[in-house]
Amino acid sequence: MAQPEDNLLKKITAHAKEYGFIFPSSEIYDGLGAAYDYGQNGVELKNKIKNYWWKAMVQMHENIVGIDASIFMHPATWKASGHVDAFNDPLIDNKDSKKRYRADVLVEDYLAKLEAKIEKEVAKAEKRFGADFDQAQFLSTNPNVLRNQTKIDEISHRLGSSLEKGDLADVKALIEELEIADPVSGSKSWTEVRQFNLMFSTEMGSLAEGANTIYLRPETAQGIFVNYLNVQKSGRMKLPFGIAQIGKAFRNEIIARQFIFRMREFEQMEMQFFVKPGEELEWYEHWKAQRMAWHKSLGLGDDHYRFHDHINLAHYANAATDIQFQFPMGFKELEGIHSRTDFDLKAHEEHSGKKLRFFDHHTNESYVPYVVETSIGLDRMFLAVLSSAYQEETLEDGSVRTVLKLPPALAPYEVAILPLLKKDGLPEKAKEILAELQFQFNCQYDDKDAIGKRYRRQDAIGTPFCVTIDHESLNDGMVTIRDRDDLSQERVSIQSIQSKIAEKTAIESLLRKL
Ligand code: ATP
Repeated sequence: MAQPEDNLLKKITAHAKEYGFIFPSSEIYDGLGAAYDYGQNGVELKNKIKNYWWKAMVQMHENIVGIDASIFMHPATWKASGHVDAFNDPLIDNKDSKKRYRADVLVEDYLAKLEAKIEKEVAKAEKRFGADFDQAQFLSTNPNVLRNQTKIDEISHRLGSSLEKGDLADVKALIEELEIADPVSGSKSWTEVRQFNLMFSTEMGSLAEGANTIYLRPETAQGIFVNYLNVQKSGRMKLPFGIAQIGKAFRNEIIARQFIFRMREFEQMEMQFFVKPGEELEWYEHWKAQRMAWHKSLGLGDDHYRFHDHINLAHYANAATDIQFQFPMGFKELEGIHSRTDFDLKAHEEHSGKKLRFFDHHTNESYVPYVVETSIGLDRMFLAVLSSAYQEETLEDGSVRTVLKLPPALAPYEVAILPLLKKDGLPEKAKEILAELQFQFNCQYDDKDAIGKRYRRQDAIGTPFCVTIDHESLNDGMVTIRDRDDLSQERVSIQSIQSKIAEKTAIESLLRKL
C-alpha cells in the first residue's frame, strides 16, 4: 500500500515501539531528545547488521583487522583531528518562533525543493514521450531544468565556500536572499548565524586532583588513527591494509529529529584503509564499488541507493562521496566514503611527536600512508532496513497484515516454533524441536492464542519461517513450515527443517554475492 512519506515514518516509529524494536530513551520520564533504546527484537536485528558488516569487512579480508578502542581519548587527539577548533555546525534561531535550526540544512532543504522540481519535470516528460524519452538529452536541453540546475549549482557552491571560509555573515545573507522562511511559523526574521561545537565534554578525575576536560568521541575514526602503529607492528601488517571498528559516537546535534536518523548518541561502523601515497584514488573507487555491492546484496531495492559526490571537499579530503538511501523522508546520507589523504596521521605525528609511518622494504623509504575511509551509521542502516521492510499487505480474503519483509539473514529470529494446541503432547514435541534448532538459529517459542494470530505476530517482527507441530506430527514426524513472504505452507520432515531454514537465512548467501 503506498504511504505518504511522513505518515510512513510515524507508522514505522510506532511499530518499532509496539513490537520491541526501539523505545524512546527513559520514556517513563517523558524521554530524552534524540536518544533511543533498542528493545528485545531491535538488539537482535542490530547485532545481525553489525555481524554482516564485520564479516564482510573484516573476516572476509586477509588484510583488514578490527579493534575496539575506548570512547574516552586523550584530549590532544581532538585538537590534532581539528574537532576542537572546527567540528561546528552553523546555528541560526528564528526570532519569532524561537526555534533553532542548522543554517546549512535550511539552505539544503531549499535545494532539495529545486531538485524535486527537476524530478517532476522529468517524470512529466517521461509520461509524455513514453519509450522515446531520452533523459540525458532532456536534462541537458530543457530550459526549466537548466535554469533550476544552474541555481542549485550556484547556491551549493556559495554555501560550501562560505562554510569553508567560516564566512557566517554570508550564510545568513544567502538565507535572506533566498527568502527562506521558518518551516514551522513561516517567519523570515532570523538571528545571526553562530558556530556551535558538536562535541560533548565532561571531566575526568576528581576536582581535588585537578580535573581535565575530556570529550566523548564524536567519531570512531580517531581511535583507529592513534592505534595505527600498534596494529601495524603487532600484526606485521603491510600496505595496503585496513583497521575496522564498530562503536558509539556522540554529537550534540542542534536539531535531532526523524527518529533514529539523527541521534545524539549513535553507533558507527568504520574502516580506515591505509595505502601507499598516490594509490588512494584507485582504492577510493574500489571501496565505493565494494560498499555499494554490500548494500545491494541485502535486496532492499537497487533503486533505493545513489552516490552523492561532494563538490565542496573538506580540507583533508581529495575525494568524497555519500551513499544515499531512499528513507521515508527522501534520499539522505547513509554512508560516507572519503579519501582523507595523510591528513590525520600527519596531524597526530605533529601533536604527539611520534612517527606514524610505514617502512617500505621494496623502495627502502618510509612515509605516512594515505587513508581511504568507509563510515556508516549503524542506526541509519537499521532505519534503512526497517523502513524498506515495513509493508501493509492486503491478503486474498481482504484482511490487511503488517509484515516486516526483512532480509531473512538479518531477521531477529529465523524461526518460530508453534505447537498447534497447548495439550496432547504437542508442546513437548515442539520443545524437543526447539532444543535442537536453538544450537543454530535464534528461535521463538509461542503457544498462546489461535495459530492465525501467532502467524501475524511473527509477520510483525519479520520471522521468515514458522514451524507448526500438530497431532499428525506425533505419528508421522512431519511438520508444517510457513513462509513469511509467499505464505506458502509445506509439509516437511522434522529432520529437514534445519537445512530448509539455513538455505534461506544463512549470512553466507549474502557474502557470496559480494
Ligand atoms: P550528516 O551530514 O547527516 O550530519 P555527517 O556527514 O556529519 O552526517 P559523518 O561524519 O560522515 O556524517 O559520519 C559517518 C556516518 O555516521 C554518516 O553517514 C551517518 O550514517 C552516521 N551519522 C553521523 N551523524 C549521525 C547522527 N547524529 N545520528 C546517527 N547517525 C549518524
